[in-house]
Amino acid sequence: MVSRKKQAEDILTMMSEHCTVKFCHLDGKVDILKGHWCNECWTDEVFLSKNSKQKAFHIGSNSLCCQHVQSHYQLYKMQCARRKIREHHHAVPHDIVRAQQDAKKNTK
Ligand SMILES: [Zn+2]
Repeated sequence: MVSRKKQAEDILTMMSEHCTVKFCHLDGKVDILKGHWCNECWTDEVFLSKNSKQKAFHIGSNSLCCQHVQSHYQLYKMQCARRKIREHHHAVPHDIVRAQQDAKKNTK
């Protein structure tokens, strides 16, 4: 039933395994969603006091998760370095990619 497609390791340093979560809204509506918890947002009390829990839950593909990981890039970078995992290019914010490219150009 559950496909055992291996989750990208780099994403798992920041997010939970793929799981199914039921969200009950105040108006009685229930959403059943499949996705990943962002470990950072999930444990961030300030974030959770301003947003619903659902905001810490990310549905969709790896690349969408990567886009969210960009907002925690400094931490992601550290996690990857510690575990010797390559950073996913989708998880690197554009301005940093550009800065790296510029740095390469300048060394030539
Ligand atoms: Zn997050």
